[in-house]
Amino acid sequence: MLRSLPEAEAPPSTVAEVGEARRTAVVRADKAHVWHPYTAMKRYVESADPLVLERASGPYVYDLDGRRFLDANASWWVAVLGHAHPRLVEALRRQSEMMPHVALAGVTHEPVARLAEELVAVAPPGLTRVFFSDDGSTAVEAAMKMALHRCHLRGERRTRFVALEGAFHGETLGCASVGGVELFRRPFAGVVIDCLFAPSPASGEDDGAARAIEAMIELVRREAETIAAVVVEPLVQGASGMRMYPASYLRELDRVCRAHDVLWIADEVFTGYGRTGRMWACDHAAVTPDILCTAKGFSGGMLPMGATLVSERVFAPFAEADATFHYGHSFCGNPLGAAVAREVLAVFRDERILERTQAKAQRIAAAFESFRSLPGVVRARSLGMIGALDLSESSSYLGTIGWRVYEEALRRGAWLRPLGDTVYVTPPLTIGDDELERLLSIVEDSVRAAGR
Ligand SMILES: *Cc1c(COP(=O)(O)O)cnc(C)c1O
Repeated sequence: MLRSLPEAEAPPSTVAEVGEARRTAVVRADKAHVWHPYTAMKRYVESADPLVLERASGPYVYDLDGRRFLDANASWWVAVLGHAHPRLVEALRRQSEMMPHVALAGVTHEPVARLAEELVAVAPPGLTRVFFSDDGSTAVEAAMKMALHRCHLRGERRTRFVALEGAFHGETLGCASVGGVELFRRPFAGVVIDCLFAPSPASGEDDGAARAIEAMIELVRREAETIAAVVVEPLVQGASGMRMYPASYLRELDRVCRAHDVLWIADEVFTGYGRTGRMWACDHAAVTPDILCTAKGFSGGMLPMGATLVSERVFAPFAEADATFHYGHSFCGNPLGAAVAREVLAVFRDERILERTQAKAQRIAAAFESFRSLPGVVRARSLGMIGALDLSESSSYLGTIGWRVYEEALRRGAWLRPLGDTVYVTPPLTIGDDELERLLSIVEDSVRAAGR
């Protein structure tokens, strides 16, 4: 029940006072009631001085005082086309006046049908069916349920998954089951689905990838009869610190899975939509997974929406048995999200986003190569529109050096949230050349300043 809205405050007089009063009121309400994701709340409430953001445009976010910050990670990797791209805003406005939402059971509409068609046209060849859901986690959750359901239809008792150490696949219990970040997994360890973890090819050690593929081959051979699917983040393990591995691993994975009739799932929620320099990370290896998950950039960072694309190999058992996949969120195929996602693909085509990121990717690569010599930098790496450096040997998620860099970067005008001691940039693909230069020099200066 709505009890009552808080009292209005006494009206402030000057412009500066108006701004300060709003800021204070927002922070007070926030600290009293908002439970923040991935945040130690006691410490936050007692000592955080949060940015209060009001507006976002292109590569920038603006706070209530009108200060602007470069969004170094495209707001948790979603704003691939920058914030408030005019064409996406217009597509959203148009669709919201026409039909904001209808359920997708037994009916269809132009945005969702055409989106599926256009998505299949740009996807790795052989993916032909699209299942829509709400975000990256549900795209992976749907993939896992499809794999399990398919085994059930085929009369197979395959109920386990294989994932990589250090993997991150989202937040639901299903996704957490295939998550290989020990810290995130620990509270739920007793209840999650059975998952076998294979060594990460992105360990950073010499011949790490070669040894990891040997281990994966061995595992798939041994456990083929019990595995519903193998799931990987292709080329980059994002959440565990932008850890990268070679495309040859994907080719070998594809080969061994096919040889043993085991499905593999590419979780392209982070890597899709040009982040690695190609439309999909899988494109670097010229492989097509059995199932591909997309979200984040998929709806241009405007709306939560995800999609799970599958090959006929996955879909056929359902078609042959005329089986119902008993799964579907309320907002499955939401017309707003679908209209925006279509416009995202149109912008990628019309603005030649992939071609135009090549020079920027080279700039990021050169800059992070040079950052190796900065004080305190243990490792540095890059791929496409991703640059990352580690400031401690273990690059621990609980480390504090990354947060010192964060503070230094804020002072210099960039919002550079680290992954523990891993400092990274994943800017909007549309970031301008000058803005990219500024961001890279802020990274350099902030790392130097934090090391003093
Ligand atoms: C972010 C992410 C997810 C989860 O997506 P949400 O939209 O946050 O639910 C899943 N997999 C990968 C690889 C991700 O980076």
